[in-house]
Amino acid sequence: MPLSDDELDRYARHLVLREVGGPGQAKIRGAKVLIVGAGGLGSPAALYLAAAGIGTLGLVDDDAVSLSNLQRQILFRTADVGRPKVEAGAQALAALNPGVEVRPHHTRLTAANVQELIAGYDIVADGSDNFATRFLLNDACFFASKALVSAAVTEFEGQLATYKGYRRDCPCYRCLFAAPPPPGTVPNCSETGVLGAAAGVMGSLQALEVLKEVAGLGTLAGQILTYKALTTEFRTVRLPKDPACALCGTAPTIRDLSDHP
Ligand SMILES: [Zn+2]
Repeated sequence: MPLSDDELDRYARHLVLREVGGPGQAKIRGAKVLIVGAGGLGSPAALYLAAAGIGTLGLVDDDAVSLSNLQRQILFRTADVGRPKVEAGAQALAALNPGVEVRPHHTRLTAANVQELIAGYDIVADGSDNFATRFLLNDACFFASKALVSAAVTEFEGQLATYKGYRRDCPCYRCLFAAPPPPGTVPNCSETGVLGAAAGVMGSLQALEVLKEVAGLGTLAGQILTYKALTTEFRTVRLPKDPACALCGTAPTIRDLSDHP
């Protein structure tokens, strides 16, 4: 289906980009993206992806909006405090771009539901705030052969990578970290704090990498980007596949999701 007059107008600044144009915008419209975590990363990621015209946008989160979220979770307004995040988020995204089909998944991602959830999407953006979810998504996306664009932020620093461990030349998250750290050894965002705009930088970069994957504009796979907000430093280093990786290496020992609680 060709772009409508309304779409030609709405996406005019994409359409004039030679690398995007009509065919790129049509790919964006045809894409189904799942965002895990409607927080400091998921908020800007969802807003930019909806604004860009991603056809189907899924939001997974089991939490409600709290006042202390609003310092960085720009998907929400003060009046949303107390509402389920996916409900308030879906409303905000629909108001921004009614052409996007937003699917709210008011649930916590678990080993029991992850495969069914990601099956409905082409690509997954991880903006979750805990290691259990990161490892679960990494393993599930590996088995489903789906690209995982993963962002993280703490205090003044961020990290971004695209994992495609199902490809022979690309690493997965376990190539970087073999297993989750023992519970309680790594403090979370509510304990350490996070500068709101730093989460905004990382969530925006995450949206950008999703758009690149969807529109065929390039990939971050095989590299990892780190951002230091206080010294304004971006660094991209090569992230090779680990042949000894228990998931995507040459002699894998992880064959399914049964290790996940
Ligand atoms: Zn791996």
